[in-house]
Amino acid sequence: MSQETYDLVVIGSGPGGYVAAIRAAQLGMRTACVEKDPTLGGTCLNVGCIPSKALLESSERFAAARLHSAEHGIKISGVELDLPTMLGRKDKVVKQLTGGVAGLFRKHKITWAKGLGKIVAPGKVEVRGETTEVLETKRILIATGSVPATIPGVAFDGDRIGHSTHALSYPAVPEHLIVIGAGVIGLELGSVWARLGAKVTVLEYLPALLPMMDPDVSKVAAKVFAKQGLDIRLGVKVTGATRKGDVVDVTYTAPDGQTQTLPGDRVLVAVGRKPTTEGLGAEAVGVQLDRRGFIQVDAHYATAVPGIWAIGDVIPGPMLAHKAEEEGIAAVEHMAGLPGHVNYDAIPNIIYTHPEIASVGKTEPELKQAGVPFKKGSFPFLANARAKALGETDGLVKILAHAETDRVLGVHIIGPRAGDLIAEAAVAIEFSASAEDIARSVHAHPTLSEVVKEAALDAGGRVINI
Ligand code: NAD
Repeated sequence: MSQETYDLVVIGSGPGGYVAAIRAAQLGMRTACVEKDPTLGGTCLNVGCIPSKALLESSERFAAARLHSAEHGIKISGVELDLPTMLGRKDKVVKQLTGGVAGLFRKHKITWAKGLGKIVAPGKVEVRGETTEVLETKRILIATGSVPATIPGVAFDGDRIGHSTHALSYPAVPEHLIVIGAGVIGLELGSVWARLGAKVTVLEYLPALLPMMDPDVSKVAAKVFAKQGLDIRLGVKVTGATRKGDVVDVTYTAPDGQTQTLPGDRVLVAVGRKPTTEGLGAEAVGVQLDRRGFIQVDAHYATAVPGIWAIGDVIPGPMLAHKAEEEGIAAVEHMAGLPGHVNYDAIPNIIYTHPEIASVGKTEPELKQAGVPFKKGSFPFLANARAKALGETDGLVKILAHAETDRVLGVHIIGPRAGDLIAEAAVAIEFSASAEDIARSVHAHPTLSEVVKEAALDAGGRVINI
């Protein structure tokens, strides 16, 4: 039994947990972070955001070398895929970053408690690793994240029928990859394997693609993905997946009510994730879960049990690393008596396909439903000089601003580097900027950011370059 008393024990070292631990240490708290996996960084660094972005980059370079170099006057012949090297590079990127978190823990004198954390009582966290110890602490922050969910009739076999973690390390390019769910993971990892040569079919339950995005963006996305060869079937209900040797038969009900069977050699289930609370002991000490298994917290991330807080994927809200980070910081600041705050109206959402899709704030249907009067402006990448030079002209920027005050309410982008361009929009919303503020700010020429400026000019009825 450990004799040390901590000010804070964080359970989980994903972006929510590790960032919270660092902020706590900065504020002078004696901090430990419990992690069950052998490396720090959680889903994002180990099997999520980071390895998927490494593969997205590598596969994009492969596709560009094969398909787009000739138009730049570069003749490349014999372009070949070396998958082991591509996967090895991804693993190296992950190792560097998870090692980086360990370095940050050393710098901030945060104890890395290795093992599975379980709350045995308020103020006591059991860590079951090579040995079992109980950490005594004034406060506990639950940051245990989420795990892949599946649907009835489809069981993960860890091989042919898998989730995103498996799809980051397929030993060979699938001949036919069937993706269940056209959400973020389905589109990102579906794109990776399609670029590497797989036939990819995506089965989506909802009748529309990306319904949470602004419709002008979803429309462009549907066209672009079809052009890239992704076979996205909407309005289908998957009912089962049965393995026969190396083939998996996926059965689904088509929109016309007919039952269809689709054979593939790999199935990626990407139908969402569920909060991780199993074995955590939270409920046993009085922490309340909602109907869907998320931990209930107040506006300061405190649970019903004094001294226990929760943040990130394990509480309601979008499952995004940056949302978890901000909540972790705000929760710890509240613990220290500071005014921590997260502005949920200014959380960017990005899908790292090619082109990227990014949004922040409200969509047009959301504003209509809320009865908020608005005006809109948009501008296509096709009319931007830099996009032309890059050869990346698909997409647009759309800005929604309040009809009377001109305050920016939502920005939606599909196009090259949308994920980077959206930062300006998030800052604009955070600072309650008007569309005119963006329009009057100097944007360097020739850059992609000028598309944001032109969309803002368009909202004011004075677009220049179209
Ligand atoms: P998601 O919620 O983005 O998409 C799941 C999709 O599966 C939805 O479109 C849903 O309608 C569909 N679906 C559900 N049941 C189905 C069924 N029976 N048959 C067919 N389709 C069905 O979930 P995800 O892609 O699994 O990602 C999980 C979480 O991880 C999300 O919250 C996501 O935001 C997060 N994530 C974010 C990023 C990013 O920010 N770039 C990347 C990866 C994952």
